[in-house]
Amino acid sequence: MKKKLVSGLPKLWVRHPAERLECPGCQYPIITRIVYDVIDELGIEGNTILVNSSACGFAVILTTSTDCVHANHGQGIDAACGVKALLPDSLVVCFGGDGDVAAIGAGAFVNAAQRADKFTVIMVNNGHFAMTGGQLAPTTLMGQITTTTPEGRGPNMGYPARMPEMIATVQGVAYSARGAANTPANYLKTRKYVKTAFEKQLDNIGFSFVEFLSACPTGWRMTPQESIRWIEEKMIPALPLGEFKNVDRLD
Ligand code: SF4
Repeated sequence: MKKKLVSGLPKLWVRHPAERLECPGCQYPIITRIVYDVIDELGIEGNTILVNSSACGFAVILTTSTDCVHANHGQGIDAACGVKALLPDSLVVCFGGDGDVAAIGAGAFVNAAQRADKFTVIMVNNGHFAMTGGQLAPTTLMGQITTTTPEGRGPNMGYPARMPEMIATVQGVAYSARGAANTPANYLKTRKYVKTAFEKQLDNIGFSFVEFLSACPTGWRMTPQESIRWIEEKMIPALPLGEFKNVDRLD
């Protein structure tokens, strides 16, 4: 039987995924692939700038042919603000981890949203500071074990940040959503969220944000299969998937 290729690599992906530096089972390459795919579909690969900061996702910029900026940990959003101010007609996409966006860069995140800066932030949430050794992050779930919460997170350490719900209350935000890729259906929904977020930026409406619930088998001390189950059984019930804001003008 003649084989038919139903899905190849996105044009922007100039190196094979196996050459990336992430651990086996890490889902950073999946959200990267979604972003590259949507950029291909929109036909804007020559007019896109990816910004990321020092975190596990730094390999995002090592696998693509598009223009990239690499910032210090927690400063990707500041860098994206500058890039967008200089090149307002470009699609600017800032990748960050949850430690990066919800902790170190949280001030920049809120202020960019409140200013209605027209760029997109993709936050890869694996529930802890993965690159620096698996410490508690604002997004860590109640009861979740990290290297700094060996007994599990308790109320004396605060409560998990729900970033898309929070930022949806800010007037300058045009779009806010949370996706995952633990199932093919969720992969496809997340792809739609990313595309809508980019369209809000390209239509000059306002700030756009997508959180991606992402497996970190190494930090979680799990197999890749167990980490997918953890997303299904623990993360999604606490951090529900869906769109939290989707407007065509800022009132
Ligand atoms: S530590 Fe976790 S987030 Fe970082 S590359 Fe490995 S699996 Fe991915």
